[in-house]
Amino acid sequence: MNIKEKDNQYVASTYARFPLCIKSGKGSLVYDDEGKEYIDLGTGIAVNTFGVADNEWIAAVTEQLNTLQHTSNLYYSEPCANLAEQLCLRTGMKKVFFSNSGAEANECAIKTARKYGELNKGEGFTTIITLKDSFHGRTITTLAATGQDVFHKDFLPLTEGFVYAAANSKEDVERLASENKCCAVMFEVVQGEGGVLPLKKEFLTWLEEFAKEKDLLLIADEVQTGNGRTGELYGYMNFGIKPDIVSTAKGLGGGLPIGATLLGEKVKDVLGAGMHGSTFGGNPVCAAGALNILSRIDDELLNGVKRKSEFIFNELEGAKGVKSVTGLGLMIGIECERPASEIIDECRENGVLVIKAKQKIRLLPALNIDDDKLKKAIYILKEACAK
Ligand SMILES: *Cc1c(COP(=O)(O)O)cnc(C)c1O
Repeated sequence: MNIKEKDNQYVASTYARFPLCIKSGKGSLVYDDEGKEYIDLGTGIAVNTFGVADNEWIAAVTEQLNTLQHTSNLYYSEPCANLAEQLCLRTGMKKVFFSNSGAEANECAIKTARKYGELNKGEGFTTIITLKDSFHGRTITTLAATGQDVFHKDFLPLTEGFVYAAANSKEDVERLASENKCCAVMFEVVQGEGGVLPLKKEFLTWLEEFAKEKDLLLIADEVQTGNGRTGELYGYMNFGIKPDIVSTAKGLGGGLPIGATLLGEKVKDVLGAGMHGSTFGGNPVCAAGALNILSRIDDELLNGVKRKSEFIFNELEGAKGVKSVTGLGLMIGIECERPASEIIDECRENGVLVIKAKQKIRLLPALNIDDDKLKKAIYILKEACAK
């Protein structure tokens, strides 16, 4: 049996995989099991922040691996404390809960918001407003938070306590907040799985004011938009708002599984000892990887993200076969005249990996991709769009 056959037989059938087995890589190049080279514009869905097998990150991770790979949360450990400190210093948030994935980072945000509502607003003030076309994860509760029926339908009953507003609709948010006992509003500043759609700045500015007035927590799901992806350290920083809770994961560990829930002043002590936990949360190796990634997301890197983003927008907006280009930083969605899957297949045949978001092509390149590789990949993508 080859790898594809073995996987199809033994791995649960939850993924519709592309017919490609990725074996290794370096930076923004990856290689399949036959040695064919690809420029990777997907980075394992915004996870490999500095591409594959980045030397500095490997050094930080292996040093920690050779020192202490795990200890339980019954003890203190250095990488976890240092990472929490850095996250707080860089965002102004006050405390951090560590987990292992985006869904778990959101679970912690949801638990915190519910407890906050009960403590500060009264019994039953636990409903969370989320947005239509959002994506918050695959657990039963984060599925409930996800405002897309397609993800719900096979798994009812879901966790109660979520209501959905249309993205950018003040009227919906106002109505839902008056009809329900709410504690929070949860949103992605750029809806990733929903089609790479940024929220309007004006809506977010209004939402911040409205939330303050109604004592609703603002929860920014920065699982995909976080860690430099949008040209700022966290996506919300592009919009001049200040959330009470920020969840992140994907790119934080640079390829290692880590989730983080950043807690602001209002909620920093809402969860007390024994109320939440995670065996692997704050794992020293993942935290060491994340510390390395975070230390390298500086102004120079972020300016590079903005510059490369502009290059992609300039190349693709108005290009033949391209209907629209949306997104922020190096998180870009392209609506094409041809079906996205045909373009994805053609790009792959020509040595470029791109992914999908709804009916769009989605680009999530490494934040440090070289200009030459990016240019070459965009040229190949443009050719495919133009056919
Ligand atoms: C990917 C994603 C999640 C889920 O993260 P997992 O690590 O797969 O659990 C949640 N929210 C957003 C915005 C995401 O993009």
